[in-house]
Amino acid sequence: MKCLECGNTMAKTVGDHIYRESGMEHVILRNITKLHCESCGAKRVQIPAIAQLHRALANALARKPARLIPSEVRFLRDHLELTNIEFAALMGVSQHQTSRWTSTEPIGVPAERFLRLLATFGPDLVKPRISDEPVEEQLKILAKTAGVAPAEFAQEAIEGIAQVIHHLPPPSAEARPVKIGLRHVSSGSWKQDPLAAN
Ligand SMILES: [Zn+2]
Repeated sequence: MKCLECGNTMAKTVGDHIYRESGMEHVILRNITKLHCESCGAKRVQIPAIAQLHRALANALARKPARLIPSEVRFLRDHLELTNIEFAALMGVSQHQTSRWTSTEPIGVPAERFLRLLATFGPDLVKPRISDEPVEEQLKILAKTAGVAPAEFAQEAIEGIAQVIHHLPPPSAEARPVKIGLRHVSSGSWKQDPLAAN
């Protein structure tokens, strides 16, 4: 690949990339192609399947063993495609409060549990994009999003909630970052790296 700055050929390496672009300091992407221009020093990283990566990250955070920290709350809010106003309305608190949760202060225990549940289902269950459709139609669309038959959707949803509750930390658990490593498996797929999970 040519350098966008100077036009020289860029050197290619494959390795770990700390995914600070996510707004978090503790997410490591494995097997990432990195390009470096030896003439002008320009650097680029190639991150494939971003939407799929963000779903994998949201799932990892929903099951994280420690309490969520503010940068993770902010990532999940953005993943759910919520503005701060919408996030505050959904959580039933002031915008001042949600601003603190996404910057400085630990999120409250009930709110954290609710956010983890929302995170496992993703933006399609949160944003009322399809609310003009009849209920049966909405169910079909949601089932399609989740990749299951409409009849199975309710059951899947219940199992999803049970899975999240099983992984919740105790309310007294400390809010702290837990290193999350994600391994790139193919062009459309990311897997959490078990070795980096703690
Ligand atoms: Zn260059």
